[in-house]
Formats: sequence, C-alpha cells, structure tokens
Amino acid sequence: MSEYFNAADIFGENVFNDTVMQERLPKKVYQKLKDTIKEGKELDLATADVIAHEMKEWAIEKGATHYTHWFQPLTGVTAEKHDSFIGAPMENGKVLMGFSGKELIKGEPDASSFPSGGLRATFEARGYTAWDCTSPAFVRQDAAGMILCVPTAFCSYTGEALDQKTPLLRSMEAINKQSIRLLRLFGNTTSRKARPSVGAEQEYFLVDREKYLRRKDLIFTGRTLFGAMPPKGQEMEDHYFGSIRERIASYMRDVNKELWKLGVPAKTQHNEVAPAQHEIAPIFEEANIAVDHNQLVMETLKKVAGRHGMTCLLHEKPFAGVNGSGKHNNWSITTDDGINMLDPGKTPHENVQFLLVLCCILKAVDTHADLLRESAADVGNDHRLGANEAPPAILSVFLGEQLQDVLSQLISTGEATHSLSGGRLETGVKTLPDFAKDATDRNRTSPFAFTGNKFEFRMVGSIDSISESNVVLNTIVAEAFAEACDELEQAENFGMAVHDLIKRYATEHQRIIFNGNGYSDEWVAEAERRGLPNIRSMVDAIPALTTEKAVALFEKFGVFTRAELESRAEIQYEAYSKSINIEARAMIDIASKQIIPAVVKATIEIADSIIKVKEACNANVSVQTGLLTEISDLLSEAKYALSTLQDVTEKAAKMEDGREKAVYYKDTVRAAMDALRAPVDKLEMLVDKDRWPMPSYGDLIFEV
Ligand code: ADP
Ligand code: MG
Repeated sequence: MSEYFNAADIFGENVFNDTVMQERLPKKVYQKLKDTIKEGKELDLATADVIAHEMKEWAIEKGATHYTHWFQPLTGVTAEKHDSFIGAPMENGKVLMGFSGKELIKGEPDASSFPSGGLRATFEARGYTAWDCTSPAFVRQDAAGMILCVPTAFCSYTGEALDQKTPLLRSMEAINKQSIRLLRLFGNTTSRKARPSVGAEQEYFLVDREKYLRRKDLIFTGRTLFGAMPPKGQEMEDHYFGSIRERIASYMRDVNKELWKLGVPAKTQHNEVAPAQHEIAPIFEEANIAVDHNQLVMETLKKVAGRHGMTCLLHEKPFAGVNGSGKHNNWSITTDDGINMLDPGKTPHENVQFLLVLCCILKAVDTHADLLRESAADVGNDHRLGANEAPPAILSVFLGEQLQDVLSQLISTGEATHSLSGGRLETGVKTLPDFAKDATDRNRTSPFAFTGNKFEFRMVGSIDSISESNVVLNTIVAEAFAEACDELEQAENFGMAVHDLIKRYATEHQRIIFNGNGYSDEWVAEAERRGLPNIRSMVDAIPALTTEKAVALFEKFGVFTRAELESRAEIQYEAYSKSINIEARAMIDIASKQIIPAVVKATIEIADSIIKVKEACNANVSVQTGLLTEISDLLSEAKYALSTLQDVTEKAAKMEDGREKAVYYKDTVRAAMDALRAPVDKLEMLVDKDRWPMPSYGDLIFEV
C-alpha cells in the first residue's frame, strides 16, 4: 500500500463538472447550460445534442462503455439500467458510439417494477427519467467497467413523482422563493437565490466478510436476528474516537480516494461509539447534490468493503444491545452571495433577521413535528427512535444557552438587550493556548439541535435517503417564512411588526424547545405534558403524511399532490410489511435448519457423556444432567415459539396490503420474533461454542 496520491489532483477527476464543461463545450452551449442550471431555463434539443456528444466523448476517454440514468426510486436504493454507447453495426461490420441529446434528457425505464403506490397501474407502466442538470454527471468504476451516470428525476407518464429527487427539487424551489421574500423585507436587494445547504454525517459498521457470509440473518436482512451479548460491549467507551486500526484505516483511505474522484468532499472520519462502528462526513453542499452524494457515499462504503475482505452494514441496528447507526442531517440556508441565514453573528439579540428566521423554524418544527418524525421513519430506525436508544422519538429543538437566553428575554420583556458570550477557555497549562469558547455547549441527545450556524436533524436512519427529511425541512420552513412575510409585507411599521411577530412566535412555540437530556424518562413525561407527539414506530408515523394539515402544506408549495402523498403512505406500509416478513422468514429458516439441529446434536452429546461417565466410574453427573435439562427446556420453548412465529407469519402473508397488515406485522409478528429470539440467545450461552452454527456477536464486532 505504498501508493501515494494527491487528494487535490484526483478530486473530481471522474465528474463532468464545471471545469470540464467550460473546457469542452462551445461557449454558447456552455452559457445555455449554465442558464438552465442557474435559472431553470428550458434546454433546446440542439443544445442537448452538443452536450450529450461532449459528455460521451469525455466518458469514453475515461474508459466508459455504457451510460445510465441514475435515479432514486422509492425502494430506498439508487436504480440504474445500463445502455452501451454502441450503435447498430454498419455495413463494414464496425459500430459508431452514440449518445444523443434525447438520450441524455429522457429515459424510459420499465417503471412497472418500481413502487408507485397505485399512482401508475401496471398496465400503464410508463415512467420517465429526466436529466437533472443541477447535479453533475460522473463516471463510476465497478466490476462492469466504467459507466457514465446521469443523475435523473423519475416521474410517471402524468408527471407524478415516483422518486426522492423530484419532491426535493420542488421543495428547494419553495424555500428559495420564500427566503428571498424574507430577505427583501430586510432591505436585501442583491441575493438572487437561496438554497438549503446540507451535510450528512454517515454512520456504519464493518464486519469481516467471511464471518458475515456465515450469518444468514445479516445476508437476508442486514441485521442480526439472533445473538447473545458478548462479555464486553461498548461500556468501556474505548472505541469512540479511538485510534483507527490498520485494516480500517486502509479501507477508509480507499473510500476517500473513490469519493474524491467522484467529487464527493469527504472530510472527516472516526470511530464511533460501538466497537466496529465508524463515521464519515463530507463538507456540506447544496441539498440536491448532498442527497446524491450521500447515496454515493453509501454505495462506495459497501463496494470498497468487499475489496478489503469486509462487509459494510448500513442497517440502523445490526446488533441488539449495541449502539445503532444514524445520520446527522446538517441544514442551513445559503444565498448565492454567501449569506447563511442561520448565522446569528456575535450578538444574536441585535440580529432581527436571524431571530425571525429562528422563530419561523421553531414554529415550523412545532407545527409539523409529526412530519419531520415521519421523514426519518424506516423499518430499521424503529429499533432506535423511541426504543432502546437515542435520539428519542419526540421532536424537540435544542438552542443552547446563548439563544435560549435571548429568547427568554424576548418572551418575558418583549426586548432582548444582550447576548451571553462564550468567554475564554482556560486550559490551566501554560504551553496550551487559551481560546475563545463557543457560546453554546453541545447536546448530543437532542433530535434537532442548533449547532452554531446550522440545525442538525439527528433522527434520520443510517440506510435511509436524506431526501425526505430535507423535503420536509425545506417545505415546513418555506411555509413559516411565507406566513411571516404575508403579515410583514402588509405592516405599516415594519420594525414594530417584526418585533411583535418574533415575540409571538417565540411565545406560542416555546414548548418545542428543550435543552435537557433527551434520553431521560422525565423528558418523555414532560413532553407529554407539553402535548408534543411521541410517535414510537414507523407504522404509527406514516399517517402524518396524509393529514389535512400535510396535504394543505405540500399542495400549497407544489411539493406533493394529495395523490402523491397517499401513494407514498401506501408504499411505506408495504415496505414495512415486506421487511418484517423477510425477517420473520429468515428467523424461521435459521432456527429450523441451523439452530435447532445444532442444539439437538449438543443434547445428544451431553446425554452420551452422562451415560459414559456413569459406566466408567458412576461419578456425580448432576452438572451434566442440570445442563441437559436446562438446554432441553429452552429447546422446547424455542420450538414452541417457532411454531407460533410460523403461524402468525403465514396469517400475515395472506392479509391484504395496507395499514392493517403493517400493524399486524408490527404488533403480532414482531412479538413472535422476540419470543423466539429470547430462548435462542440463552441457548447460545449454554451450547459449546464449536457447536453453535454461526459466529457470535463477539466474533463479529471485536474481530474485524
Ligand atoms: P459538528 O461537529 O457540529 O457535527 P462539523 O463541523 O463536524 O459539525 O460538521 C458536521 C457536518 O455539518 C459536516 O458535513 C459539515 O460540512 C456540515 N456543516 C457545517 N456547516 C454547515 C452549514 N452551514 N450548513 C449545513 N451543513 C453544515
Ligand atoms: Mg454532528
């Protein structure tokens, strides 16, 4: 591994980025494309033809043989269908390589096999992918060779969104428009665009591939369905930020290299709380690109793991009893001339514009806490949110001391006259510099925390797209901005009106602010007193999508129609049922074919040894018989639980798709799964390790 590289040299080398476009495209074409990217102007086919041609030439120079429209359907993973550049063979037996403007702009994948939630009946299977020129095309290397990937949106024949990107782009338009409106109120005449900036911190686990392949549960479901806790867990807290072992370091190096080539600004990496758990974070980018890049981060983490003899687990809870994985979605709003609307400055109490933005966000999160919670709902995340670990399922906002103090002043006296400052951190060591502290400490337990000049939404699951959460954030904040602007634009005395409005919003929505320990039971009780929703499962979160409140919100800003929302709810119920069904069937399979036979063999061995010991010397065999009894009892408990699980799973599979079925999986099938797991995990502690048919938790998380 002595191959060194310069990160700056390779950065973006596989991206059809602005530099490449400027170099390769005729000036006029380049300008037209820039206008489309910046202002959404329509692109004519002749221009698209030129761009497609240059893109193809560039990709072929990079070794590409195929192109694909790269899109994010509602299955959670990115989808692609590869077409080669070759045209029909000519008379001389040769082929020309072609890629037309039409092929660049529009694709027509067979849409019938992607979830549409009834939006598109299968007999009318047309769906289109449309080039999203705001996210750059790139070539990606995999076992199939080099492929030109064109980021696209995916819509039905009648224009309904079938993907994650379309609503995201719509929501970005909404927040753009309302942010500019708000800025104009404060005399800003220069900013022309405002875009959400997003940086997603990604957590993941690495396990040894050989061991992974011996765990059917990991293979089928991405998480362990059985497994007793090892003698050592994460209680020593020696992994978090611990030094990175060589195998992992070499993996991370490869991941970074791949990502940098793809223009993903991977920045930080460290070990996480649990053994074998790690995190990677890129530098924040415009929301749409950040969403695409997060998909690339996940793909790359998985792909590169294979090369290092490991498997990357992106599941939210691969190991029960061990810290799970999430994503922190850092979010702010930035204008084209570099203003961060969430930057409080040094003296927030004087920054009226910031206070208005802040209070609008408080109002948005309070009003639509259910939607934000829903945006982070996926099957795996049920094991984190509101279950055994944090963040809690209750939405609240952490502001920190400084902003809390400013808001308290506002609420109590109607006037904020000062801001607490951070003071200096004195280390007490002469050779270490003292430095100015942040005005606010961190709170790691809050699901929605203000961290200096951005909000950090921490509920998102590790395998989930960050798109949905950003769609919700953009739209709810756009709504709050719009309502504030409606009022303030009419005001006779702007200064008075904005002051009153800030005070009113702060007062009306202060219940959403919580600076304490979000993991505590007291908070659960307190939140209930405050009337904040505590939505514990994905199935219970889904209805938030189709409330009249949600429909009005999304329709007002053209982000979703009612039909699109209903279809998304339907898709989510189905996804939930399918996932739990797979988990239940995997458990049945593993218990019947691997665990029970192994335990039966173990009992025979113990029984044999009892007979042999007795024959040999008639010694005391109470330990052996005790063990045999204990194992046999647990075995029969497991067998009984297995039959129950088989029955309820069969029953569930026969139910009609929809909410009722999902509820049955959540309440009945999952309970039956737990009932089977309990005796099996106890058996694992009693049966000879060599007899146990799969690697243990200890093997998986301590021996990577
Ligand atoms: P923290 O230590 O608070 O988690 P970091 O500086 O490590 O913050 O950043 C975490 C993520 O937040 C990174 O992806 C970073 O690029 C992103 N980030 C930083 N500033 C902003 C901002 N203004 N808007 C959105 N994301 C941001
Ligand atoms: Mg963070």
